[in-house]
Amino acid sequence: MATIGFIGLGNMGGPMASNLTKAGHTVVGYDLSLSALDAAVARGLKLAGSAADVAAQADVVITMLPSGRHVVGVATGPDGAFAAARKGTLFIDSSTIDVENARAFHAAAQAVGHVSLDAPVSGGVSGAEGATLTFMCGGSPEAFAAAQPILALMGKKIVHCGDGGAGQAAKICNNMILGISMIAVSEAFVLGEKLGLSHQALFDVASTSSGQCWALTTYCPVPGPVPTSPANRDYQPGFSAALMLKDLKLSQEAASHAGAATPLGATAAGLYAAFEGEGNAGKDFSGIVEWVRARTK
Ligand code: NAD
Repeated sequence: MATIGFIGLGNMGGPMASNLTKAGHTVVGYDLSLSALDAAVARGLKLAGSAADVAAQADVVITMLPSGRHVVGVATGPDGAFAAARKGTLFIDSSTIDVENARAFHAAAQAVGHVSLDAPVSGGVSGAEGATLTFMCGGSPEAFAAAQPILALMGKKIVHCGDGGAGQAAKICNNMILGISMIAVSEAFVLGEKLGLSHQALFDVASTSSGQCWALTTYCPVPGPVPTSPANRDYQPGFSAALMLKDLKLSQEAASHAGAATPLGATAAGLYAAFEGEGNAGKDFSGIVEWVRARTK
């Protein structure tokens, strides 16, 4: 059994690390938040005093942090995790971050002889708790092969998307589809209401027709047709509007760097920014249907 370091023990990292301890690994964790550290101890983790202290003890180090600057911040520099780790340590970053910082993370790891993988996830907190996450991975075939047995303890689907940064690229492309399609489904339900269609009738037709998509069939933004969707619990997340806006902004940064035209992605980012700006950051992202409805005459 390996000693696995885990940096970032929040809503996602806490339960992910817990699944590694349940499998018999020793997990040494670090977080800036005292409440996250208390929860980690309750989940059976050992604690370290810093990110470098984690890396010095571990065979594998996983980061699950808010953004690219946090990941590069804990990993690099004279007091960072890369400098403290044994040469050849496997570093897996599962945070959702921008492609540029993901590539910087890989370059800095390789410069000091470590092995690195970007492996962002989809599946949310329930997927983290239930070890049913999807991992989208970028890095060398050797890094992917070394990480796979560990990722398999926290997820059920693990895809090697390509070289360093490819996992982040897949994640933000997927979530750009999701943001756009949730707005499309919301607009269709609001238009249907104005035309006198019941939610169930529109669902029954669109879920078996060419309008079918995950935002409709699994995460329906109106209450009723899909009883497990957040619409049935007053839009408690789930996946918050703040995280959707984060991912849409990352998609737009990447599109701008790469010179890709994403007009609907840009519009979706603008609509989620307006939704968040009206106090909805903590609501599930499917709550955008209420924002659309509030704008109809
Ligand atoms: P979170 O805010 O609950 O957890 C992040 C943790 O990182 C916090 O506990 C914070 O204290 C800690 N942290 C910040 N800076 C640190 C540092 N320098 N050193 C050590 N710890 C530090 O966030 P989360 O929901 O767990 O999300 C983590 C990542 O996963 C994000 O990149 C997010 O976009 C991504 N993600 C989240 C979800 C979701 O549903 N929550 C789904 C998919 C992906």
